[in-house]
Amino acid sequence: MIQEGQQTMGKVQLYPLRFDPIFQYRLWGGRRLASLLSAPHPGDGPIGEAWVLTDRTDHQSLVANGPLKGQTLRKVMEQFREELMGEKFSRFRRFPLLLKYLDAHEMLSIQVHPSEAHPELISAGDTAKTEAWVVIEAEKGSHIYAGLRSGTSASNLRQSLYDGTIADDLVSIIPKPGDAVFIPAGTVHTLGNDVVVFEVQQNSDVTFRLYDWGHIDPKTRRPRPLQVDQALACIEFGARDSGLVAPRVETTTPVERERLFDCHAFLLWRLLGQDSFTVGAMAEPRVLIGIEGSGQIIHKGTPYAVGKGDVWLLPAEVGECAFEPSGEVTLLEIAIP
Ligand SMILES: [Zn+2]
Repeated sequence: MIQEGQQTMGKVQLYPLRFDPIFQYRLWGGRRLASLLSAPHPGDGPIGEAWVLTDRTDHQSLVANGPLKGQTLRKVMEQFREELMGEKFSRFRRFPLLLKYLDAHEMLSIQVHPSEAHPELISAGDTAKTEAWVVIEAEKGSHIYAGLRSGTSASNLRQSLYDGTIADDLVSIIPKPGDAVFIPAGTVHTLGNDVVVFEVQQNSDVTFRLYDWGHIDPKTRRPRPLQVDQALACIEFGARDSGLVAPRVETTTPVERERLFDCHAFLLWRLLGQDSFTVGAMAEPRVLIGIEGSGQIIHKGTPYAVGKGDVWLLPAEVGECAFEPSGEVTLLEIAIP
């Protein structure tokens, strides 16, 4: 049976692939992602994360449309790596980015992810983790912390952890919808108090918690474990490239295209328009996310509907496509450098 399925897959010409979200219980989460992603939440507990594109062993995105419907992203990577990833395919055994929405009803733990400079802190098969957020919704009390205030040393941090005043050592941001926040690996960061963000990150799950605000996990009735020594070991003290990013406008017609992030792991643009424009790129993969409004990707004359919260992967062999908005639309487009 499996072989028959593989033979069938081998004949498929790739096309724009849509994926369904995988919702994750988190004690700091809320219930706002259901309406944002037009997908019902499981159960009635707090949902903190929707993993919208993931090629991780424990969580695999499933194709939601067309001949490959029901296949995991891993399987598509295995069978169509070159068609999917283009010329740089040999660099990638698994899809290099992990895309999520976060609904941070409470504050997340204050945490840090290691950079490539700390292989000893990265478990086998995982990578460093640089990430970035685009704020989707924020309330009056919402808060983001990204980076250390200038002059903060490891011994300052240890003292603040002991005193419970570590937030005073962090650069504080009052987020509003549309804000772009860059969190390179090695940056101390957190967010919460009813902020919803779209997150792009390297495909990694390595997190070290410095501080958890005294939260008790109602499932275990215990505080979650901290990893203070590992966290302190991978903080880039003195680094200055984290925090709010000023968008760079690249084009204004037929679509307003702003570059929000441009780092070694990903590029991300925000597209805003109401007339037909081009998405995707020749011979390289792109990811499109519907943020506001709706429209259609046109590939070989076939329309693929993009609504709010939808995630589409345009394989390298699909290349450029026309996007036909139905009224004003906001999309994110992500490339792999
Ligand atoms: Zn993080």
